[in-house]
Amino acid sequence: MRNIYDYTLDELAQQFSPTYRAKQIYSWLYHRYIDDFDLMSNVSKELRTTLKESFSTQCVTILKIEHSIDGSKKYLFGTRDGHSYEAVLLQMREEQSGEKASEARYTICLSSQIGCRVGCAFCYTGKGGFVRNLSAGEIVAQVVHIKRDNGFAPQKGLNIVFMGMGEPLDNFDNVVRAITILSSKDGLSIAPRRQTISTSGIAPRIEQLGKLNLGVQLALSLHAVNDVLRSKLVPMNRSYNIREVLDVLRQFPFDSRKRLLFEYIMIKDVNDDLASAKELVRLLNGFKAKVNLILFNPHEGSSFARPNAESVRKFQEFLLSRGLLCLRKSLGLDISAACGQLREKNVRAQAQL
Ligand code: SAH
Ligand code: SF4
Repeated sequence: MRNIYDYTLDELAQQFSPTYRAKQIYSWLYHRYIDDFDLMSNVSKELRTTLKESFSTQCVTILKIEHSIDGSKKYLFGTRDGHSYEAVLLQMREEQSGEKASEARYTICLSSQIGCRVGCAFCYTGKGGFVRNLSAGEIVAQVVHIKRDNGFAPQKGLNIVFMGMGEPLDNFDNVVRAITILSSKDGLSIAPRRQTISTSGIAPRIEQLGKLNLGVQLALSLHAVNDVLRSKLVPMNRSYNIREVLDVLRQFPFDSRKRLLFEYIMIKDVNDDLASAKELVRLLNGFKAKVNLILFNPHEGSSFARPNAESVRKFQEFLLSRGLLCLRKSLGLDISAACGQLREKNVRAQAQL
């Protein structure tokens, strides 16, 4: 059965002319979050029968929801073929969203793959290896489920970050398709500039993405300031080193109003010293950059530790003193960075049954 969330509006319009029919279906799916074709009351009975015969709205289900103390919610989703993946809903604090409290913004952290091939040394998802790519519909379904579960109005402002499980640029076509569907004005209408792809740095794919000129934001998971350490932490660096990745980033068509985001996961006694902060400032010279400092989130089987508050403060103060905008992620974002952990718990629990 084909997943209806895999299809762009144009594709549905090609199947169900005139075009307004596809728009009606899109409106039921993405404005009212209806997942039963029989409830699409302004769609003719014949068309509903055709829809039921050809498409499914149930390719993804919610398996579990976990509430964090800081108000973020973690969702575990199940696929038809028995796998699971997760997304996180975060409420941005006023100073993070840059908007008034009355317009509190939400961010949804999406997965793009089940597992990940990159295998970063600090990452729980990477440890579990790679299972498969998510389809565009499986990516989009995360947003639909979360909007429905929270009773969000269709026009509710949302940001999307591809910072959950997986390397989005390793699932290029499906992620690009998902962005197209998410941004459709007749559907979820999440502008591309509100969507950020976080990548470990697949240089040729960054180039390819830039050529598409979608208007999406990019975040680079830098994590280290020299190639020896970065190759250990982020094995992708062995294929595309720091200089190569920064070079392609310089060519990327950024929204000039926004800053390019660099993520830096601080690990105790590995990359949390002042010399690294200095080198970071040097490397990012010339970029309109913003650095997100993420504190390593400990997990079972990892020998890494969280840095102490004093070294984080010094690191951050140095960057700020050199004019580099630098944020500490909220607790919620720290928790979301540990994406993969809910799935892992679930997989282990199942294995014990
Ligand atoms: N694969 C992409 C996007 C998903 S990972 C990438 O690597 O950019 C999203 C973020 O979670 C990355 O910045 C990554 O560094 C962070 N992350 C992974 N494991 C973490 C952990 N144990 N503690 C804190 N952040 C972690
Ligand atoms: Fe994959 Fe990102 Fe985890 Fe690295 S940090 S293993 S690229 S999900």
